[in-house]
Parts: sequence; structure tokens; C-alpha cells
Amino acid sequence: MSFLKRTIRNAVSQGISRGISDAVGKAVKQAVEPRATEYANKAAEHFDQAAGNAAQQTRQTTSSLEGAFANLERSMQSYANQMTKDLKVCPECGQPTSAEKKFCPGCGAKLPEQTLGQSAVCPECGKQNSVGMKFCQDCGTKLPVAVQEEEMAARKNAKVLAQWDEILPQYPKWTCDGELYIEDYGSDGVNFSASFNGNTGAAHRAVEQYRQILQQNGFRPAGQNPTQAQLFKRIDGVVYNVDTEHCFEGDPDCACIGFCRREPYGGFDYVKPEPKMSKDIGLDDLKDFAKLFRR
Ligand SMILES: [Zn+2]
Ligand SMILES: [Zn+2]
Repeated sequence: MSFLKRTIRNAVSQGISRGISDAVGKAVKQAVEPRATEYANKAAEHFDQAAGNAAQQTRQTTSSLEGAFANLERSMQSYANQMTKDLKVCPECGQPTSAEKKFCPGCGAKLPEQTLGQSAVCPECGKQNSVGMKFCQDCGTKLPVAVQEEEMAARKNAKVLAQWDEILPQYPKWTCDGELYIEDYGSDGVNFSASFNGNTGAAHRAVEQYRQILQQNGFRPAGQNPTQAQLFKRIDGVVYNVDTEHCFEGDPDCACIGFCRREPYGGFDYVKPEPKMSKDIGLDDLKDFAKLFRR
């Protein structure tokens, strides 16, 4: 049953993560997840017992499991709502802080006036919305929490792109709707990853668009096994590689693109040898061949 337990736990924590991460970001998710795991383990235990008692009563087991999930989701939602009532999140570094603080203890940035819970109150109709909502559940108005989050993401991307300029100005920029993170490996290269919050279609489109931009900037497949997913360009005598072949390994909605100094297999200047010309067999040859048998 441990496999089952693990599967349920993963499903629950993924569902909850998805539900709350949109609005409150990683900080709150980290705080809530231990509780989620605790609840999920409890649910899995109930399921173990039910399955052990009556394997033939599958339908009953399934419906009781569904009920357990619904309860679990509700209690996690109310827990998350409760937590965010007195929580502020730094707009610069994302650190969660208690409501009475005016400045972020992590980076010193000025904190917003409102707590996360307060910024989920609809400015039009006054409804207190749940954590995870971007639009008012009653009237559809965009909530202040969603506006704050968009501003935060825009600021972060601007910072990342400025960093990009310093590290590798010769690479065309990757601007996409995802949350972009940059990791710098010094002269070895850089790694860019963009998270698309569950939108795998958008993630694939963003990578495809970026491949086109790279090719417009002179990056091309090279070496003995050329592929569109591995693009190369020689800049000031050094061959650089952009690897989009492995960008969805691990996380289907997070695209990772690595840049590094690397020659393709067979070398950047590898040219496929011309195939040796072989004489085509024509109709006349066949006629000659047939003559041999007619004799
Ligand atoms: Zn901060
Ligand atoms: Zn409203």
C-alpha cells in the first residue's frame, strides 16, 4: 500500500500547490505543504483500511475517497485563507512577514499596506475571496492580489533581463510570459528556466518561438547529428550551444534552456560527405539482363 499512499499524497499536494501557488507564491506554499502532507497521509490511511476491508466494494471505496479529497481540499483552503489573513509578502524578494511589519526583514523593501487576505477582497463588491483566486468569484473583477503579482513578476523579469545583458550580450533575449529565472555558471554558460504555471502549451510555444529567434540570429543545427533542438553559433572563435532538447525534463510546464561553450559531435564545421555516385539501372540494362535468359 505504500505506493498507493505515495500516489495519493503526491496528487493531493500537487492539487493544493496548484490551487494556492498562483496567488500566494512559493512562500506560503512552503508553509502550507507540511500540513497538506499530514492530511494526505491521513486520507491514505483511511483508504488503506477501506481497500483492505472490502476489495469488491470498489465503488463505495472510490466515493468515500472522493469525499475525503473534497474535505481535504476544503480544510486546506480554509487553512490557507486563515494563514494569509495576517501575512504580508515582500514585493521585492517574496519573503512572507507578519502583518505589523512595515519593511521587509529580508531585503528592507517597503511592504504593502494590505495583507494577502485583505488584497483578496474585491474592490467592487467587497467579497472576501479565497486564496488562489485572481478574479472575484461573485462579480469577476480582477483582485488587487492579482495586480500585485503581475507587477512583481514584471519587475523580476526586468531585473533578470538586465542581468542577461551583462552576462551574454551576444545572445538574443528570451522574453516570454512565463516566470523567468536565470542561473549563471560563469564562463561555462548560463541556464534559463521559465515556469508557466501548468500551461504546458504555452511553455512549448515559448520554446518554439525562441528557437526561431535564435535561428534568425545565426544559430543553426551543426555536427554529425544535427537537430533543431540543439543550435550552435561561433562567436569570436568560440562555439556556443543552446540546448532546447532537454528543456522539459523533470517538469512539463517549466522550460529550461541551457547555454554553454560546446562543439557539436563531429565538430561545428562538419560537412556530410557526398554519397558515392552509383550507376542507375535503366530499362536497357534490364533488357540486356533478360536476353541472358532468352537464349
Ligand atoms: Zn524582501
Ligand atoms: Zn466582486
